[in-house]
Amino acid sequence: MNETFPFQAEPLPYAYNALEPELSKEILEFHHDKHYKTYVDNLNGILSDFPKYQDWTLENLLIHLEDLPTDIQTGIRNNGGGVYNHQLYFRCMQGNGFSMPEGDFANIIHRDFESFDNFSRIFTNAATKVFGSGYAWLVCENGKLSVVTTGNQDTPITNSQKPILCIDVWEHAYYLQYQNRRADYITNWFQLINWDYVNTLYLQASQS
Ligand code: MN
Repeated sequence: MNETFPFQAEPLPYAYNALEPELSKEILEFHHDKHYKTYVDNLNGILSDFPKYQDWTLENLLIHLEDLPTDIQTGIRNNGGGVYNHQLYFRCMQGNGFSMPEGDFANIIHRDFESFDNFSRIFTNAATKVFGSGYAWLVCENGKLSVVTTGNQDTPITNSQKPILCIDVWEHAYYLQYQNRRADYITNWFQLINWDYVNTLYLQASQS
């Protein structure tokens, strides 16, 4: 996520139908090509009038929101957040079947959550209880893992808190397939987590 203006919508790292049956091709087409792409376009639109910030990375824009001019803070927060959150969300899924954390990272999950099942319960509970639109996250802070939630397109990204996994629980992420059944979407999403990628992000986060 070290890109700068003009931001490009990154392609899905798999085919649109690769996550079926848990997530339909139709959902991913709308979610990636319409929702995510709109955040990219809006972010570029805002920054096009503010050359001073065009060499800032997406992460820097979000970490240092309070240093931006007040009249673009909300726009960057919503649209920059929308770009960052969707990129992480899409990257953290895969369609090769259920997997679990392995090796050292499995031990870290056990250290911080007692067991994988307990992590699943905590994360599922958090994602289920997000009121309205938002995300549940697994974050790394000083090497330690925890589960947090955010509303709208807010992110938990700060100098100390590094997101390594997220689930989008906006209705647009599941409504076409699951209608109001967010809990079923969350259960099935667990089949899709790309733990290899999450582990890579953990290693980066815990070493920086
Ligand atoms: Mn979304």
